[in-house]
Amino acid sequence: MTDRPATPPMPAPLFGKLAVIGPGLIGSSILRRAQRDGTIAAELVACDIDPTARQRVAELGIADRVEADPILAAADADCVILCVPVGAIASVGAQILPAMKPGAILSEVGSTKQSIITAIAPALRPDIAFVPTHPMAGTEYSGPDAGFATLFDDRWCLLTPLEETDPAATAIIETLWHRLGARTRIMDPAHHDRVCAIVSHLPHLLAFTICGTADDLADETRSEVLDFAASGFRDFTRIAASDPVMWRDIFLNNREALLEMLARFMEDAQAMARAIRWGDEDFIVDRIERGRHIRRSLLENRQA
Ligand code: NAP
Repeated sequence: MTDRPATPPMPAPLFGKLAVIGPGLIGSSILRRAQRDGTIAAELVACDIDPTARQRVAELGIADRVEADPILAAADADCVILCVPVGAIASVGAQILPAMKPGAILSEVGSTKQSIITAIAPALRPDIAFVPTHPMAGTEYSGPDAGFATLFDDRWCLLTPLEETDPAATAIIETLWHRLGARTRIMDPAHHDRVCAIVSHLPHLLAFTICGTADDLADETRSEVLDFAASGFRDFTRIAASDPVMWRDIFLNNREALLEMLARFMEDAQAMARAIRWGDEDFIVDRIERGRHIRRSLLENRQA
């Protein structure tokens, strides 16, 4: 008889109690994965201001406790993750920070970083480590029903700790994201905002704009757009279906980096327009080939 290799023991849960404030797409995905995994937290608490969202979380059974009051949810938690829209992160953070227990970790998942860090700074406490993060994963859907346990698998989660953040707390949050399925990278907040302006925020701006432009056309043309929407336009409409409050907050909170990337994009679009006007075939083919190359790289990196 051959000996079977012993199964390595399951690591102990990272946290006794993990509180997720705002169990929408991102928050409920964290809860679902944590519930399935068992190595993330012994107790899961969810908190939402919206009674309908609270009821859905309770019905879905993805948290051990559901709270209406963020202070009660955060009070005895070892880690609190703010998963509310960008514009609400600093105010919810300031509300719960005085009630958090010494030594706990405060984290958040907002899509912009510098404005959140600046806005929450006055409320931070030296005995609570603050670790901002941004999981680069999502869909156009929102709310507790939209989440799923595998949302973060193989996706990047960017961490932007402050200079004063305890490195041990940053390491714990990195482990958390690894257990949620993600790969992690530590980044400077300003660099994060520029990177996300080009890879996420500008594409959303273009999608909202192109759908608006199509909608502004005459009734006759509009019906044609809808009837004959080909894959290119359909892909834009998927992105344009995203939550308005979330994207309003992202645009306003990453204003400078987004406007800089938009200006660069408009210069490049002008160059393409010029090439089309003058029949510069080489230029046009070169730009299309660059696009194909980028798509291939994403597929190779399992990010498409
Ligand atoms: P979501 O599905 O709309 O979930 C947000 C939840 O937070 C909603 O249930 C919302 O309730 C609740 N909420 C709003 N304000 C609150 C408050 N003051 N206190 C407690 N709960 C509150 O949004 P999401 O897509 O998960 O996004 C959450 C965060 O993740 C945002 O900061 C976003 O920038 C970031 N993020 C999103 C994506 C993505 O692709 N979706 C990717 C990465 C990061 P109501 O429904 O009543 O507003």
